[in-house]
Amino acid sequence: MPEVRERGWLPDFLYRDGKFESGVALFADEDGRITRFSRSEGDLLNAQRLPNRTLLPGLVNAHSHTFQRVIRARTEYRTKAIRNTFWTWREAMYHAALELSPEDIYIAARMAFLEMALSGTTSVGEFHYLHHAADGTPYEDRNLLAKQILRAAAEVGIRIAVLRTAYVRAGWKKELEPGQARFITPNPRDFIADTDALDAYVRRQSAPGSAWVGVAPHSIRAVPLDYLIEVVGCARARRFPIHMHVAEQPAEVEACLGEYNTRPVALLDASGVLGPDFTAVHSIHVNEDEISRLARRRATVCACPTTERNLGDGILAADEMEQAGINICLGSDSNIQIDSFEDARQLEYNLRLSRRERAVLAPTPERDSLAVRLFKTATENGAASIGAAGGKLEVGWPADFFTVDLNHISIAGADPESLLSHIVFALQGAAVRDVFVSGYPVIVDGHHQHEERIILEFVKLQKRLWSQEK
Ligand SMILES: [Zn+2]
Repeated sequence: MPEVRERGWLPDFLYRDGKFESGVALFADEDGRITRFSRSEGDLLNAQRLPNRTLLPGLVNAHSHTFQRVIRARTEYRTKAIRNTFWTWREAMYHAALELSPEDIYIAARMAFLEMALSGTTSVGEFHYLHHAADGTPYEDRNLLAKQILRAAAEVGIRIAVLRTAYVRAGWKKELEPGQARFITPNPRDFIADTDALDAYVRRQSAPGSAWVGVAPHSIRAVPLDYLIEVVGCARARRFPIHMHVAEQPAEVEACLGEYNTRPVALLDASGVLGPDFTAVHSIHVNEDEISRLARRRATVCACPTTERNLGDGILAADEMEQAGINICLGSDSNIQIDSFEDARQLEYNLRLSRRERAVLAPTPERDSLAVRLFKTATENGAASIGAAGGKLEVGWPADFFTVDLNHISIAGADPESLLSHIVFALQGAAVRDVFVSGYPVIVDGHHQHEERIILEFVKLQKRLWSQEK
């Protein structure tokens, strides 16, 4: 039998099963799968030494719209609207969405994926809803823009679920806005055919497990119920992960009550949409009954706290959801910031501010238990949500991991018992040193091999987009 070539890594500490271990090397085969963990002297000598580093499973960003990276920090002022809200922000977002060529969409996505990789992210769920030309005309290749996203992820080296978004209308009793033309697929049959075509392309073009397709009906506002049910039925038959924006804004709940005389989660439940393959993104404006419905159907909730605080969406009842047994994962959403640890800690900090209590989400009084729970939202819960194999370090799973500099100013002095809390509550991005996807080095000592070019081309794009801005 030919010898299987293994690679091994030996950090000072390795995070596995909720704790840090020392004197353990991680090994992976040529396909990038974890083969074993070893403490034997010979193995430790053969492994690549990672001094002053701790090694953790790669982060999973379950909800992103990469094109919105181009409006980062461009909307932090008052407009003439009486009240500046999510809806006034959305106008700026639509404006940017109209300007972007297929190549621009690739450049923006690549920039966002680079920032994710540099922060320790190894998998992303891209909720992709730019499908057509600016006037709404489909491109000759109806998946041209989704392919730009895939191209960007492949160049950076990040694992990706392209969550193809169905978008049909502006809302109940609302006229379509010109800014929405790129999103719209009026017929569910076309949407399903386009999704199948993308799925076939991904299976043909991508290494197994590096990219896959999911389905994302945008929201109850944007997708009528019969369309939604048809798309979800097809997605289930194909075992695609299903994501949907749910109850981000009170106005969406009110519109749902107006149109269907029921609240969004109750409607989704009664329509058979909820299930273990379903992720409800945001889920901020939900009541007790809706939380118990999400829990009963074993749906996941994806929180996006850095975006939600930026948009003034509200605070997720993460404590009530955890008590109900709902798995929460995290997303960078609008990409105002790309830092899963900031999202994780904000989940807890929001509750501290509103409840005027500390350690609200801590399951036990043990030292690192709160950090363990928050770290799970940034890793394995996200992996389960987007259908990625990963989120933890286990034999047979992909060797997706990142390393942190133990002497970095933001966490130096941590002991093993408080190390995860240091990382979750205080880590700065620059402390992330190496990132591996399938055992392949994507980030080496804080740098990506193409980062200069990726950043430069993004800077050029921004200059062009915003030079006319008054
Ligand atoms: Zn979103």
